[in-house]
Amino acid sequence: MATHRIRLNNEEIPYLLLRSPRRRSIGLKVGPTGLTVSVPARLPQHEWEAVLHQKSDWVRDKLEHMRAHAVPDFCWQHGEFIPFLGRSLELVVETGGPRTQAVRCDSLLRVGLADPGDSAALKNRVMHWYRSEALAFFQYRVQLLARQLDVSVSRLSLTSARTRWGSCSSSGAIRLNWRLIKAPPAVIDYVVVHELAHLIELNHSSAFWQIVTQACPDFREQKIFLKKHGAGYHQF
Ligand SMILES: [Zn+2]
Repeated sequence: MATHRIRLNNEEIPYLLLRSPRRRSIGLKVGPTGLTVSVPARLPQHEWEAVLHQKSDWVRDKLEHMRAHAVPDFCWQHGEFIPFLGRSLELVVETGGPRTQAVRCDSLLRVGLADPGDSAALKNRVMHWYRSEALAFFQYRVQLLARQLDVSVSRLSLTSARTRWGSCSSSGAIRLNWRLIKAPPAVIDYVVVHELAHLIELNHSSAFWQIVTQACPDFREQKIFLKKHGAGYHQF
């Protein structure tokens, strides 16, 4: 991916150089794949290198932040732990038994596989289990909280959006991210209440937050929790 290297603060930094005929200025960006430098088509190398030296502290800080917050790929194998309703479940791969669905027994999630090393099959089985658990749990909470808020929900479905935990439509359809099932029940309730409150108030007005506060007095705590742990829930 990286096309160039530069020495900044005594560290060799690889970066991707993008030349664009439409660009008038030099742009620096640090993302999950590292540093990207965008420059006008004919800019000589010493010019963007001068900018990189000038901004070397910014580049270092951004790269450090990225490294610290990078989420490693999940290893789908026996003995790993997965989040569920704010707790941790241990994956137990079993062979020889009936190979149907994943089954939870307290803090274990038992998965029967023909080949215990088949990580793709394990992932598949666990994902299927997550989604059915999510739908059942969300249905139960939505029903209960909708009654409390005196709203009616026409449809509940799951999404796997990268950026949103929930959404709703004016027709009363609620969509919730299945990954929410990894969060503690209080956090799920906050997201449900948030979407249900939108069936009364379509905006984020003070009237909206009043409804949320009434149904979910500690919603600020849940919001902060989701902000802090939400990225981790997207590991898979
Ligand atoms: Zn909202």
